[in-house]
Amino acid sequence: MKKHNFYAGPSIMPQYTNEKVIEAIRDFAGTGLSIMEVSHRSKEFEAVMASAVSHIRELLDVPEGYSVIFLGGGASLQFAMVPMNMMEKKAAYINTGEWAGKALKEAKYFGEVIEVASSKDRNFNYIPKGYVVPSDVDYFHITTNNTIFGTQWKHDPDMAVPLVADMSSDIFSRPVDVSKYSIIYGGAQKNLAPAGVTFVIIKDSALGKVTRPIPTMLNYKTHIEKESMFNTPPVLPVFAALKTLEWLKQKGGVAAMQKINQEKAALLYDEIERNKLFKPTVPDPEDRSLMNVCFVMSDNYKELEKEFGDFAKSKGMVGIAGHRSVGGFRASLYNALPIESVRALVDCMKEFANKY
Ligand SMILES: *Cc1c(COP(=O)(O)O)cnc(C)c1O
Repeated sequence: MKKHNFYAGPSIMPQYTNEKVIEAIRDFAGTGLSIMEVSHRSKEFEAVMASAVSHIRELLDVPEGYSVIFLGGGASLQFAMVPMNMMEKKAAYINTGEWAGKALKEAKYFGEVIEVASSKDRNFNYIPKGYVVPSDVDYFHITTNNTIFGTQWKHDPDMAVPLVADMSSDIFSRPVDVSKYSIIYGGAQKNLAPAGVTFVIIKDSALGKVTRPIPTMLNYKTHIEKESMFNTPPVLPVFAALKTLEWLKQKGGVAAMQKINQEKAALLYDEIERNKLFKPTVPDPEDRSLMNVCFVMSDNYKELEKEFGDFAKSKGMVGIAGHRSVGGFRASLYNALPIESVRALVDCMKEFANKY
């Protein structure tokens, strides 16, 4: 049976990426060797790294004065590297979910953290509005897509202070005005590559402003100067990232992707609204994530949750269980998920509802 992969992360990759990785495991760039057994200093891999960086620059229209690097450690290490490299005294954070909260907690190791707003009062089912960011903070940190709770910032905010964003789960899903940010980072395993690599886009002039000593490996400057080759980079995930970026370019880039993502999300949210068995967990359509669609059984049908889960599974749906802190269901509609999979889920919801 055809499987429809709605996992939140690691998650679906383009078929193109999977196939190119398989080929490169057999024979990487005509070397007669596997991508897993070549030196990261080989000219063939150096070309992969350079091309991955230039694809990101091109696809996101990264301005002059910004560096693009690949690191290890996941987005979770960035929760600490950002304040270590950027916070002299204090920073502002907005608490929009589990990952935002974890970022905020790590920042407290390095200075004063101001939580400008939180949506915890309603289990993070909205993006707070109308908060004030103090003008004397070293930066303001946001999480543009809240993977677990299914909320998303759909625009790039204008800020008077340096802006830092965790874009782990919506990078490359829409055009981004990189010039509004000092740092954009994310783990690759949602929308780019297999787990093991982290991308960071940094405004060079935002660095060098803290007085604390920074260990070499945790200093962004180290990796910028060595072009992500200070130590051994995650060779295979970087190769896979390049293939996804090539695929993205073939598809027409991030603007084309945004259109398809809007269409996919609209299909599913419309069915959740229409179908009497289900309801969305995020009330305001404006705040609803295009990447992670969260929904629960509506009040009169709560007892059908397990049955629907089993039914969906029997129809080939994979990974739609909601996170334990939200319950219900979560369908992740990352770039690589074809619209046919969304249609299959919608059909499955309709078919299930016909039984009641
Ligand atoms: C998945 C995720 C993380 C955690 O990423 P790791 O690479 O596992 O550390 C952080 N932030 C967001 C928004 C995520 O979706």
